[in-house]
Amino acid sequence: MAEILDGKKIAGDMRALIRGETQALALRGVRPGLAVILVGEDPASVSYVSAKEKALAEAGMFSLDRRLPESAREDELVRLVEECNADPRIDGILVQLPLPKHIDEQRVLLRVDPSKDADGFHPFNLGKLMLGQDAFYPCTPYGILKMLACAGVRARGKHVVIVGRSATVGKPLANLLLNRGEGADATVTVCHSATADLAFHTRQADILIAAAGRAGLITPPMVKPGAVVIDVGVNRIPDVSKKKGFRLQGDTDFEGLLPVAAKISPVPGGVGPMTIAMLLHNTLKAAKARAERENQKETGV
Ligand code: NAP
Repeated sequence: MAEILDGKKIAGDMRALIRGETQALALRGVRPGLAVILVGEDPASVSYVSAKEKALAEAGMFSLDRRLPESAREDELVRLVEECNADPRIDGILVQLPLPKHIDEQRVLLRVDPSKDADGFHPFNLGKLMLGQDAFYPCTPYGILKMLACAGVRARGKHVVIVGRSATVGKPLANLLLNRGEGADATVTVCHSATADLAFHTRQADILIAAAGRAGLITPPMVKPGAVVIDVGVNRIPDVSKKKGFRLQGDTDFEGLLPVAAKISPVPGGVGPMTIAMLLHNTLKAAKARAERENQKETGV
């Protein structure tokens, strides 16, 4: 039976370390701060934002909650982003996606100061990621890399197959795994909705990462025995027996894969908690850079 990759536990350990570093930074007069911007009231986004704010508070960080109505104009949102760019208490800015249809996401993300880009979605940071340079990396792909490393799965020389090519998950993840260095050096295949014979590709995977947003897409015959399976998908399946009226399901047939895979991440409790831990990591990274700049100003070196 597959070992279950406990994202909650791995993320909890990371968050404890981050809390310690945050306390140390506070002694130097710097409290990491994240602006969390939410437009509209999409229930999934509201619940993600509150989970992130709770995690920030637990880590001892400062969060600035900024909400705009669904009807907000793009220029209002840009103005808010620019206020946060200029606010010295704010180390990181998170614009919760998706934005309402009448707002151009890419135009808004372009206005986030790249040095405050805690989500790692600015083209400057994505470009640096592609070049193999240090940057703010998108939280979900980065969290998957950490999860593999913490579970003792070495990507080096392995064939990783990713199902999904979004700019927020599939593509940055492919680049992170393709880069040189610790936790990377993999051979990567990226599949999408136009891939001919998806199962042919997924069966080649030593590490299979499903990020398609299609409940139960990956079934047992699509997985090589002994593969490591990471399930990124979060699909809300209507279920009247649940208090919220739905249950969460990943992109894999989790139960069916238990006898096939060597390791598998569950949904919920897998990649989701890792994403939040990496958001804290990126906020701390930005705050450390601020502390460094302030130190240089004081000492003149
Ligand atoms: P997205 O932007 O909708 O992208 C989905 C990708 O999957 C696209 O590239 C699409 O192909 C591909 N795809 C869809 N159906 C497919 C199929 N039948 N066969 C092969 N490829 C298929 O979604 P996303 O933002 O990347 O998110 C993916 C999933 O991860 C969602 O369920 C989302 O909720 C979840 N997610 C979870 C976290 C977390 O923290 N746990 C974070 C982010 C996202 P095309 O490009 O050809 O359309």
